[in-house]
Amino acid sequence: MKLLIMGRPGAGKGTQAVNIREYYNIPHISTGDIFRANIKGQTKLGKEAKEYMDKGLLVPDSLTIDLVKDRLSQEDCQKGFLLDGFPRNLEQAKALDDFLKANNDSLDAVLDIDVKPEILIDRIVGRRVCPQCGATFHIKNNPSKVEGVCDVCGAKLIQRNDDTYATAENRLKVYDEQTAPLLDYYKNQHLLKTVNGDQDFAKVFEDIKKVLTK
Ligand code: ADP
Ligand code: ADP
Ligand code: ZN
Repeated sequence: MKLLIMGRPGAGKGTQAVNIREYYNIPHISTGDIFRANIKGQTKLGKEAKEYMDKGLLVPDSLTIDLVKDRLSQEDCQKGFLLDGFPRNLEQAKALDDFLKANNDSLDAVLDIDVKPEILIDRIVGRRVCPQCGATFHIKNNPSKVEGVCDVCGAKLIQRNDDTYATAENRLKVYDEQTAPLLDYYKNQHLLKTVNGDQDFAKVFEDIKKVLTK
């Protein structure tokens, strides 16, 4: 199973990716997570990426595309993968197609978690994440049992640097301008499977399984 998961910032990609990863037993590759791990580790890539991420802008393709190709070349991705947050513009999509083609490979499906922009600001600013294990919560929609503490590992939850009102608005704008055109790109390749992401967490996953087995 070689899958992409797409959707506006806050649509629920990361949340559903955890379900998909477990159900299909494939690695979940999130470019955002890779950048955040580099920021935490204070690498050169992390320092460069942070400048863009804090403003809600895309990290340049020159820093992003090779990173993904390297990751997809690793052993654990040969039987399948779930890419989350990549591609985010046409250049990245074409680079991915070329890479897969060169390996006699192709995507099986592109999932689009569709959520209207109106409710996304709330989802984004209410998101809390665990810096230790990566679990995601929401102060209203999916609160941790103890406020501010990760249910899974007990670490103190944090708010992402870019989960502010101002940055969230910018990220939604960047999505419309640069990422949304990819929906037509994959529709033309007959790969696009759209799921309504404005439903209960479990219902969204039920719908994902339904469209993937069709
Ligand atoms: P993305 O990876 O697309 O940015 P996340 O999976 O991190 O999105 O979800 C964004 C926020 O919305 C999180 O706080 C998450 O708990 C919450 N969320 C995710 N799916 C749903 C849903 N179906 N209903 C309500 N809130 C949700
Ligand atoms: P979300 O889906 O909630 O916007 P991500 O974790 O996917 O969050 O992305 C966070 C930020 O990381 C983006 O706003 C962008 O700055 C950077 N980023 C992640 N993936 C890419 C990518 N494929 N190309 C460029 N920038 C990216
Ligand atoms: Zn945790």
